[in-house]
Amino acid sequence: MVISMLDSRGREINYMRVSVTDKCNLRCRYCMPDGVEIVPMSDLLTFEEITAVCRQASLLGIDRIKITGGEPLVRKGVVDLVAMIRALPGIRQITMTSNGVLLADYLPGLLEAGLNGINISLDSLDRDSYKSITGRDQLDRVLAGLEAALASGIRVKINSVLMKGTNDQEWSDLVDLARTRPLDIRFIEMMPIGSGKEYQGVSNEDLLGLMRCRFPDLREDHRVHGNGPAVYYQVPGWQGSIGLISPVHGKFCSGCNRIRMSAMGDLKPCLCYEAVANVRDLLRSQGEEAVGQILKQVIFDKPEAHCFSRLEDITEDKQMIAIGG
Ligand code: SAM
Ligand code: SF4
Repeated sequence: MVISMLDSRGREINYMRVSVTDKCNLRCRYCMPDGVEIVPMSDLLTFEEITAVCRQASLLGIDRIKITGGEPLVRKGVVDLVAMIRALPGIRQITMTSNGVLLADYLPGLLEAGLNGINISLDSLDRDSYKSITGRDQLDRVLAGLEAALASGIRVKINSVLMKGTNDQEWSDLVDLARTRPLDIRFIEMMPIGSGKEYQGVSNEDLLGLMRCRFPDLREDHRVHGNGPAVYYQVPGWQGSIGLISPVHGKFCSGCNRIRMSAMGDLKPCLCYEAVANVRDLLRSQGEEAVGQILKQVIFDKPEAHCFSRLEDITEDKQMIAIGG
């Protein structure tokens, strides 16, 4: 077993989010309202290249990979990539974040490839509201994907972003999913990245207050649910749990365990700041050991904390779709 590398602040870095595309079949208003500039295929890392980077990361102790995007299921052959990464000896968990539109179609292949968990992004259970947020009338397909995933027994988490005046009144319908289903419904505070800056999110402190009023016996759920910073709660008797991910009102940087890689090979140790290195050309010119050296440096130099409270310090100007969330 490889011991995970510590960064210069002593944090153990064991998790990498890997974006495989910056294309998407939805147009979520806080993520990519006007679409993004589509890059040529040759600028994207191939599956072999992504796997090589994951192998180098695993040699540094990164043993969990999240496949994200854009929408990962729109990248042709992504099921093969899941299998390739899952087969790396150092990788003990591979999960995916998806909008769920194509999930029912790809689920059997993903399960066979060894996917360990699926996060489905879902901001509304109301057809009109869903369409207004995502720009597409696809709620039924997402719900079909969700039910198929639950029936398969794979670990399912739902990610919701609440916006004041848009879907903030829908939190209790979303929470209700955990009453009869064994899933985690997680509320992610809106982050001031890209178009997210234009929306007023809901503070998870306020949401917790509302939940405590509605469910007086709500209690903290201390079981380990995943690799991230969510704080979990449960209502006794419910099958699922409720998670709060609070990057804005509850800074969790002291326990941050992750780095990110974009579909073009940009390495990003913190959401707030622009990428610090690119591995694509290095990989193509010098081979994967050189990438291992860069990864080591990027992990070591990971910034102490994000700067969402000082908007002028944010150097990342890309939309979330190009970063991978
Ligand atoms: N297409 C996939 C999906 O929607 O799950 C993966 C990529 S998406 C960028 C990953 C996650 O980032 C989604 O759950 C989305 O809701 C979230 N996200 C996008 N922009 C955000 C923002 N400004 N603040 C908080 N979360 C955001
Ligand atoms: Fe696409 Fe996901 Fe962004 Fe929505 S949040 S536009 S589904 S990448």
